[in-house]
Amino acid sequence: MRTADALVVGGGTVGAWCAYFLRQAGLDRVVLVEKGHLGQGASSRAAGIVRMQGGTPEAVRLGLWSRRFYLRQREEIGTDSGFTEQGYLLPCFTGADVAAARERMAMQTALGVPVRWLSPAEVDEANPTLAPGQTLGGTFCAEDGYITPPRNVAAYTVALLRSGVEVAEHVAFCGLAAGPAAATTVETSQGRIDAGLVVLTGGPKLAGVGRLAGLRIPAGGVRHQVAVTERHPGLDPGRVPMVFDLAAGLYWRPEEGGLLFGMSNPDEPPGENREVDEDYLARMRARLARLVPVTAGLGLRRIWAATIDYTPDHLPIIGRAPGLDGVTVACAGGAGMMWGPGVARAAADVALTGSSGVLDVSPLGLDRFDEAGHSRLATDPIALPFPERIASS
Ligand SMILES: Cc1cc2nc3c(=O)[nH]c(=O)nc-3n(C[C@H](O)[C@H](O)[C@H](O)COP(=O)(O)OP(=O)(O)OC[C@H]3O[C@@H](n4cnc5c(N)ncnc54)[C@H](O)[C@@H]3O)c2cc1C
Repeated sequence: MRTADALVVGGGTVGAWCAYFLRQAGLDRVVLVEKGHLGQGASSRAAGIVRMQGGTPEAVRLGLWSRRFYLRQREEIGTDSGFTEQGYLLPCFTGADVAAARERMAMQTALGVPVRWLSPAEVDEANPTLAPGQTLGGTFCAEDGYITPPRNVAAYTVALLRSGVEVAEHVAFCGLAAGPAAATTVETSQGRIDAGLVVLTGGPKLAGVGRLAGLRIPAGGVRHQVAVTERHPGLDPGRVPMVFDLAAGLYWRPEEGGLLFGMSNPDEPPGENREVDEDYLARMRARLARLVPVTAGLGLRRIWAATIDYTPDHLPIIGRAPGLDGVTVACAGGAGMMWGPGVARAAADVALTGSSGVLDVSPLGLDRFDEAGHSRLATDPIALPFPERIASS
């Protein structure tokens, strides 16, 4: 039997940065248990998009906080997650898109996001790779960008080790038991640890982590695919702002002289799946070729499929676990690159004090879901077309 001031489950971007923030807050003994190795889940497989142009005030605040964190990392920990300011365009293709985008822009601007409206001609000028005359305009934020996900794993590994978090790889969380006063006994594959605070993360596997703790957490996993084209002089990073074709669930950004594009199939059933869906990939390549003609004849250098986390309303979960003193739950809802550090910091704050200066977390707890896993919040309108149900609900 060992003791810890705090124990965090899961060595992805949410758990790792959370453990680091708990240690930074002054806790002596912070233990991170990861059943495999750091970054083996969604966090090393992501596309890295970091967007402040969120669909809800909570999303915007988490994007703002996370981007600021990425910018100060080098000074704080001596390395960084590779944040690159690329600019992000959300084009509109219908009148309804335009009305929704303008309304969103007002909310984002009020929260301090430097987003602006581009007319159709300005869209074409800002993005010479886009086929001209395709859009009715769009919103653009020059300060949005992307990180390099494997570099983020390296950065949090450095931060954990330097700050003195005890990292326990190949140690699985197995459950909770009542502990001595003001502590929870955490069962792991390597014995028990009495912890003052416990934070549960798990990305696409969070529902399973919750079950081990006796909690019902409506979070799921679903296939998401990413591909990278061959290089082409027309895809020089100076010519390619990032683009989110929201209706198609397709986005892209420059990557080593080619284009990285990611896609979520709205008809994809929830569950683990890491096989490449060639048919869907071909459909998205055709759409990409229509919008970015230079990609039409290009081969692919890399393709991967991985399981991405989601919640039914596509918003994060940050809150104390009902009925379990000292236990906090955190999930980035499929946006752990753009929201992860903010979610992690808010979860650390909530674990320590019950609230956070990052954002008001009171709407984001597990109590927003009913028995069937339906949320009382509206779904985030700027998200990938994730399922709105968890596999079993
Ligand atoms: C292909 C792809 C592209 C993506 N692109 C983007 C993007 O462009 N922008 C963006 O914002 N987000 C993106 N995401 C989403 C983002 O990667 C995730 O939201 C984020 O990585 C989730 O972080 P996490 O720490 O919650 O989960 P994970 O990184 O999955 O980490 C959870 C960890 O918990 C561990 N674990 C599970 N069960 C246990 C247990 N019982 N005991 C101990 N450990 C356990 C797992 O092994 C895992 O390492 C993408 C995801 C994928 C898959």
